[in-house]
Amino acid sequence: MKPARRFREPFLPVQQPSLTERFLTSIERRIKGFLFNCSMCGICLLQETAFICPMLCPKGLRNGPCGSGSSESCCVDPSRPCIWHHIYARADELDRLDRLLEVQSPLDWNRVGKGTWGSIVSEARIRGLISPIGALRWTGWRERVDRLFEDVRQPDWWQGDDRFHPPALSQPVSRLQKALDHGEFVVTAEVSPPAGSSPSIVRQKAERLRGLVHAANITQNPMATPRMSSLACSILLASSGIEPVLQITARDYNRLALQSETLGASSLGVHNILCLTGDPPTAGRGPAGELPFDLDASQMLWILRRLRDQGRFLDGREVMTPPRFFLGAAGSPYDQNPEHEALRLEKKINAGAQFIQTQLVYDVAPLERWLEALDKRELLDKVHILIGIGPLRSLKMVRYIQEHIPDITIPPNFVDRLESSAAPEETGLAFAMELIGKVRQLSDVSGIHIMSMGSEETLPHLLQELNLVIV
Ligand code: SF4
Repeated sequence: MKPARRFREPFLPVQQPSLTERFLTSIERRIKGFLFNCSMCGICLLQETAFICPMLCPKGLRNGPCGSGSSESCCVDPSRPCIWHHIYARADELDRLDRLLEVQSPLDWNRVGKGTWGSIVSEARIRGLISPIGALRWTGWRERVDRLFEDVRQPDWWQGDDRFHPPALSQPVSRLQKALDHGEFVVTAEVSPPAGSSPSIVRQKAERLRGLVHAANITQNPMATPRMSSLACSILLASSGIEPVLQITARDYNRLALQSETLGASSLGVHNILCLTGDPPTAGRGPAGELPFDLDASQMLWILRRLRDQGRFLDGREVMTPPRFFLGAAGSPYDQNPEHEALRLEKKINAGAQFIQTQLVYDVAPLERWLEALDKRELLDKVHILIGIGPLRSLKMVRYIQEHIPDITIPPNFVDRLESSAAPEETGLAFAMELIGKVRQLSDVSGIHIMSMGSEETLPHLLQELNLVIV
């Protein structure tokens, strides 16, 4: 039984709970099922999510949208809107936006199917909030009840909050972090892993980038299609002299695999980690894999930050030798509402993100509005921002982006230039260079992240034009 499935059978637990608990669960299921389409996830977040159930998200995300949907369509099911955009809009109306900042735990699968009301009543009894004759005690009632709800929502193994946690490590753990901390204008590039087991392809890709980038991201099963693992490619890149950024997606890792894989990565010298939610399995070519995901990007960051800074696994055990991570997340400068996107990013930064790599940018005006929104929430001093740049080489690519990623705006004058150009590839590269020039003028930007858009051979040409000295 999975929460987040829209239609499913009632849950029948193997271990029968007490009569009171069964009674409360049955009432809770009926009332919340009718009012909120509740699927009994076991830790209710309705108060934090403006009274819209977050488990209506097919990916099961409990901390915000994945960034691929919009207020019109969900990336898994385009026939309906992204529920998280609705949650943000309603929270804005109800003046409850700040409640969305709290980092919520992944599901406790032992609790799925059970009610939250039963847990609240038994906790209230334990704390003496309910007197023997059943009346509520009124002294300090509001604070005590808030605390009670928070403790049920944030179990001991998680203890999420809405505050910023500066990293415990004062020294940089990678060359990328060192360059960013020293204020260098940083360049990273995206490398797609081979669809095979040959290490020589990865080495060739590394050779092309040598001396031109500070680090290279290895995508993890792009478009939900299997490729060589991001960790294996990272190690091959590192052995060829290119510092890797390990991309790790919630789609491909559950909580166990995340912790073990990243500990292994750190032990092998891979310290830059970008946490992403990932495309849904339905984006792949084969039969679709499992939904919802076990984790989301904020939860991944929270787990990895605690692994590093507190030396604790998710289950509370001490880590013998804590790993060293430089943690990153993705940002969407083109979101329809920059204030909401700033809030989403603040949550990731509070959870542990130290650098942000944005989605593709083609127009500086929306980027400036987004940076302003981040500035208003005082985020710019807490994180390094790398802007996503993807050279457009043909009108076909422009049309594809306009049709499939509607939030991204491509300046009409560039489309005109491309239309009238006899050499569209060169026009696209020239436009990318102009854009990079404008991005470099923005004081709050720490660098660029170049995505090859399916043509990695053109990257060295663009990178050489940049004329950067990479130490
Ligand atoms: S958050 Fe969980 S318990 Fe609350 S309404 Fe949604 S599925 Fe039900």
